[in-house]
Amino acid sequence: MLYFDNAATTQMSEMALTALLEVSKNIYGNPSSLYAYGKEAKKILTESRQIVAKCIGAKAEEIYFTSCGTESDNWAVSLAGINNCSRIVASQIEHHAVLNPIERLRMDGFDVEYVGVDNKCVVKKDEIAKLLDGKKKLFSIMLQNNETGVLQPIAEIAEAIHKDNAKSIIHTDAVQAIGHVHIDVSELGVDMLSASAHKFNGPKGVGFLYVKCGCNVSPFILGGGQERMLRSGTENVAGIYSMAKALEENCSQLHSNSTRIHGLEERFLEKLSQNGIRYIINGDCGRKAPGILNMSFEGVEGEALLYALDSKGICVSTGSACNSKSKDRSYVLSSMGLSDERIDSAVRISIGRYNTVNEIDELANSIVKYCNLVSKAHM
Ligand code: PLP
Repeated sequence: MLYFDNAATTQMSEMALTALLEVSKNIYGNPSSLYAYGKEAKKILTESRQIVAKCIGAKAEEIYFTSCGTESDNWAVSLAGINNCSRIVASQIEHHAVLNPIERLRMDGFDVEYVGVDNKCVVKKDEIAKLLDGKKKLFSIMLQNNETGVLQPIAEIAEAIHKDNAKSIIHTDAVQAIGHVHIDVSELGVDMLSASAHKFNGPKGVGFLYVKCGCNVSPFILGGGQERMLRSGTENVAGIYSMAKALEENCSQLHSNSTRIHGLEERFLEKLSQNGIRYIINGDCGRKAPGILNMSFEGVEGEALLYALDSKGICVSTGSACNSKSKDRSYVLSSMGLSDERIDSAVRISIGRYNTVNEIDELANSIVKYCNLVSKAHM
C-alpha cells in the first residue's frame, strides 16, 4: 500500500507509539485518584501539557486536552456567547468542524458572517476589513486549508482585527498546520487554536484547544470536573502523552521534514511534466506548506483517478476525508471560483514524513499511465 493521504490522517511515529504503549501498560491509573499511582498519571498529564504548550509558545494552563480537532473547533466556536461577542465571522473554507457549530449558533439567533477567498484559496482581507466596526467579535480563520494546503495570513489578519478591537477573539483551526509548520501563538496573535494528534503522527482520538489567558471559557462537557472543571471525562492519559511526544518530535524536525517533503513534491511534479501530463495546482503555490497538492488533471475525472490508483493500492483523496463520501462538489474549490470541470478533475495528494522517493516515482508513473489511457480513449 502506498499512502498519499496524510491530510486525512498520518502514520503514528515510533516515538508516539512507544509513548502510547508504555503509558497504557505501566501508568494506567486514573489521574483523579488520590493515591500515588493516580498521581503518577497526573504527573504524565502535567508533563504533556508543558510539552504541548512549549511547542506553540503558550503557557501550560492555556492548554485544554480534548478528544479530537472537531471537539476543539466546536468548543472554540461555542465560546462566542460567554465572551460577549456581537458576531461570529468565519471564512467560507473552514472545515465543517467549524462551519457546522457556527450554523447551529446562527439558527439559535447568533449574528454570523462568512468571508470569501480569492481564486488561490487565500482569505480576502478586504472582506474582513469591511466588517471591522469596533465591536467585539469572534473570528474563526483556519491556519492551513485541508484541501489545498494554503496557509492563511493569520498574523496580518489578527493584527488588523485586534487594532479594531483589542478584545475581539481570534480562533484558528491549526489542525492541518501544527507539527508541519512553525507555530507560535504570540507571533500569530491568536486567542484560540485547535489541534488534533492524528494529523501529526500521533494517535487518533486526542487533540487540544489553546485558549489564551484572559478569554472566558465555559465547560464543554459536563461531568466529573476534569480539565479544571471545563472538559469532563477521564483523561486519555496515554493518548495525551503520545500526542505530546509526537508534537515535540515533529516540531524538532520541522525544517528537515518540510525540506524532504518539498523535494518529493518537486520530483513528482517534474516527472509528470517530463511525461507531458497537463495539470494545474489548485491554490497559491507560494503560500502552500509542503505536503498537500491539490491538482486538476486535464480531461480526467478526479474520482475515477482515485479509484484507478486505489486498484493499485495507492491512496489519494478527492477532498477532505470527512467529505469523501459526499457527492457534492468541493465547497473549498467552489469558493475559489474554479470551474466545475476543474473541480471534478481534482485530486488531493498529501505527502507525509514516511513517503519515500520510490513511492513518489510509483505514484507519478501510475498517474502518467492513467492519464495517457484516458487521453487515448478520448481520441
Ligand atoms: N479541521 C481541519 C482543518 C481538518 O482537516 C480536520 C480533519 O480532517 C478537522 C478539523 C477535524 O479533526 P479531527 O479529525 O481530529 O476531528
